[in-house]
Amino acid sequence: MSEAIQPLLEVDNLSRRFGPQLAVDGVSLAVQPGEILGVIGPNGSGKSTLFNCMLGQLAPSAGEVRLSGRKITTMGAADRCHQGMARTFQLLQTFPGLTVAQNLRVAAQEHQGSMLSRLLRGGWGGTERAVQRSLAFFKLEHLAHERAEALSYGQQKLLDIAMALIVEPRILFLDEPAGGVTPQMIAQLKALLLAANRERGVSLVLVEHNMDFVMSICTRIVVLAAGRILAQGTPQQILHNPTVIEAYLGG
Ligand code: ADP
Ligand code: MG
Repeated sequence: MSEAIQPLLEVDNLSRRFGPQLAVDGVSLAVQPGEILGVIGPNGSGKSTLFNCMLGQLAPSAGEVRLSGRKITTMGAADRCHQGMARTFQLLQTFPGLTVAQNLRVAAQEHQGSMLSRLLRGGWGGTERAVQRSLAFFKLEHLAHERAEALSYGQQKLLDIAMALIVEPRILFLDEPAGGVTPQMIAQLKALLLAANRERGVSLVLVEHNMDFVMSICTRIVVLAAGRILAQGTPQQILHNPTVIEAYLGG
């Protein structure tokens, strides 16, 4: 008796117009629980616009977004966050003058306040436990009392992701997580994202230009071109898709 699995996130025929231009043009996709979905495509193909529409930072011109079957198309970004959707930005969102531990505390408390302690039961103690767990998971314990600005860029990137994950989202959106990060740190980043995915069951959706990174971490890839889905499939299918090679990977 197989039961159809409810997709975690669904995007249905979504479009977003900027004046005369359709930045996203009738995109439909679903993110399954536990999946790691990569969104790739040339500059200007609509990746960020699609991301922002899924996260409630931009209103779609047409179409629908559903979280666990529930329509959230007009729900604001903050409410989506409370429903378990978290994101990182291309630019770091860490507080440079605060220590690593303080940054994590702020991220945890921001959520806690608005959740009226529902997620992080037990007030301050709950926050501190979450901070300690996060420091251990991201292997940042030895840097707990360093200011964020004293960390390497790669370490700050890890902290940024740790801050997004501390509220235990169901789905995490990452905008170019490997951008500007050294190869060594990319390997660590990959291992931590895979561990978060496997151990905590968090689904990941990432926009990324580093093809090695995308191909090695994603379970499925969607290729955008001019606001539309050009192809989707496993990394192997995408790497060998003639249309994708011609339009995007070829050069
Ligand atoms: P990508 O992230 O794939 O590089 P974007 O989603 O940023 O692509 O952009 C898709 C298209 O929409 C581009 O042609 C871009 O110029 C346009 N666009 C994006 N954001 C805006 C905006 N706020 N106002 C006008 N045009 C925009
Ligand atoms: Mg972009």
